[in-house]
Amino acid sequence: MAEKTRGKAKRIIIAAVAAALLIAAVFGLWYIIDGDGVFSGLENTLQSSGSSAADLEGIGITCLDVGQGDCSFIVCDGRTMLIDAGESVYSERVIGYLRSVGVKKLDYVVCSHFHSDHIGSMSAVIDEFTPSTVIMPSVPPELIPDTAAYGSLIRSVDDCGAGIITPLPGDSFELGGAQVVTVGPVNELTDNHNDLSLVMKIKYGKRSFLFTGDAEEREETDIVNSGADIRSDVLKVGHHGSSSSSSPGFLSAISPVYCIISVGAGNDYGHPHEAVLNALSSFTDKIYRTDICGNVYLYSDGESITVKLDK
Ligand SMILES: [Zn+2]
Repeated sequence: MAEKTRGKAKRIIIAAVAAALLIAAVFGLWYIIDGDGVFSGLENTLQSSGSSAADLEGIGITCLDVGQGDCSFIVCDGRTMLIDAGESVYSERVIGYLRSVGVKKLDYVVCSHFHSDHIGSMSAVIDEFTPSTVIMPSVPPELIPDTAAYGSLIRSVDDCGAGIITPLPGDSFELGGAQVVTVGPVNELTDNHNDLSLVMKIKYGKRSFLFTGDAEEREETDIVNSGADIRSDVLKVGHHGSSSSSSPGFLSAISPVYCIISVGAGNDYGHPHEAVLNALSSFTDKIYRTDICGNVYLYSDGESITVKLDK
């Protein structure tokens, strides 16, 4: 090759490399700021590392598609927690998922409240993964449910010998490097089980995640009036997107950037309600529904948040 041609080729290569680096930098920056749909949530992180939940650095959250119900798995620096477990018909799906990410024993299990769409599979989960601690709301004696789901849950908790905690607002514990703070219920004077839902905020680095069970407007208002800091990047939307929840003052105090709605396709309740979708959309367009997206995976290193969807 002549010297002149070689010099020209060299310049072209340098220009191409520079362009590639620029594209990579821009793409990388976008990826870090908002990697929705591109990156890898918890499952990919685990698979790419070829290891298990115990080896994950950072916080990973999977909102499992359990139809019309709730089930969220959280792992942080190797510590594990399951919030709710869906109806009993989903027990194999929940247990299968936990096994697939390497869980052998859960550290914490949280029953947000005692309706079967939240605790139906919890008995089977507890039997399989023998949690060290079970967290549940305090319920007045006259409201203790007379249901098969509750009976099975209590039998399994007794059998596995887990410690039981009924946290009060302001109570907190550590999950790896994350802090889990209870912010509700503030007031137990209600006969509505939904308004006895445990509402918990998970803080990890600069990021935060709020899980609200099926808390309705009354409990939401109590929490706002309590002055608790509920501002959160991620909101697991209350009560499957029912208009009896997600009241304006509550959403304003949270100011969510990402919203996840756990909801069954074609459910009898019309969840999520249009009014709630509209209210959420005034905060963000990052609204993910399990009936449309399947499992929703989030991962954070304490700075950025990335989301992956099953579909
Ligand atoms: Zn529910």
